[in-house]
Amino acid sequence: MEANAESRRTLSDLSVGELEAWLAESGFKASHAEALLRAYYESGDEAGWGEMLLPRGLVEKLRGEFLVNRPEQVARQVAEDGTTKLLLKLRDGRTVETVMMTDFREDRVAGCVSSQVGCAMGCDFCATTKTGFERNLTTGEIVEQFLALRREAAAVGKNVQTLVFMGMGEPMLNLDNVLEAVRRIAPNELGALGWRQITVSTVGIVPGIEKMMEANLNIHLAVSLHAPDDETRAKLLPMGKRFGVEEILAAADRYQAKTGRPVTIQYCLLKGVNDSPEQARMLAELVGARRMHVNLLWYNPTGLSLKGVAYERAESEAGEAFVAVLRERGVVAHFRRPRGRDIDAACGQLRRRAAGQDVGTTESGAGSERA
Ligand code: SF4
Repeated sequence: MEANAESRRTLSDLSVGELEAWLAESGFKASHAEALLRAYYESGDEAGWGEMLLPRGLVEKLRGEFLVNRPEQVARQVAEDGTTKLLLKLRDGRTVETVMMTDFREDRVAGCVSSQVGCAMGCDFCATTKTGFERNLTTGEIVEQFLALRREAAAVGKNVQTLVFMGMGEPMLNLDNVLEAVRRIAPNELGALGWRQITVSTVGIVPGIEKMMEANLNIHLAVSLHAPDDETRAKLLPMGKRFGVEEILAAADRYQAKTGRPVTIQYCLLKGVNDSPEQARMLAELVGARRMHVNLLWYNPTGLSLKGVAYERAESEAGEAFVAVLRERGVVAHFRRPRGRDIDAACGQLRRRAAGQDVGTTESGAGSERA
């Protein structure tokens, strides 16, 4: 009997081993599993199976058991610079944002995927958290975002070169599904993106960093620090009260030592909050000797925060002075290139707009980069 659409998993929810088991139980050869999945990952739907010699009835059986169609695009915004933001509908009607960002190379793009619907972290300057946490994404729902990005890129003659988990949600709180998605997206047998092309970002959930280290997947870690001291940080990120700056950086040290991959420190400059030369000196002191890279982000205003604060983007001069202090002290620091300035670039904005909620302004900001 066919499962109804609500209860069906997407095909990308299955690993090769799980599909092998299902095929065997359903009276087909398990050896079809890898080729079926590879073709699905290449086309992003069942289109690739048309080229394959498959046993009679198998495709119908797969269609009856799993979702094999592309997720519906509820909204789509394309910025002048080519940054494309998609709002994808999940099987329960909820929506999730995923973003294709332009690269300095013409032939490639970077993808940004979400790990949860909404977010419970309550970072005070973030639009996503205003709608609260709804649920974790499944492995397949994360993979489907990557496949959607790959199709978007192919449509404009480009390749997805890198993927960051910096969209909606805190990846460390859905880490099993995030890592399982990475295990499907990275290896040549399926997504073929490559392990080193993937970055998982966190607000500093130390046990998550440890668990990701133990998973030993050779992927990058990014830590959203946003302040060099616990007091300022705790005002911006409630999780800052649970894990202090030193504790987070110690975990990042261990990750870096084990993987050999420099950890990226993300720092969103907010006017009058975390953009002073003194805070730049403190940050340099923390990360300089650690050889971590600092990514500075221009804030994209999202209206009044949960605490009623209207955060503003730091002045250009303050930002330039900030990065100068870091560089004088030997820190590798860059501003992330603003992208998608003329669309709802900040995390959670498009989803809020689609739901008829206040999204703040789109006039200036960090593009699709996530805080
Ligand atoms: S910045 Fe990231 S972790 Fe913080 S509330 Fe927004 S989505 Fe969640």
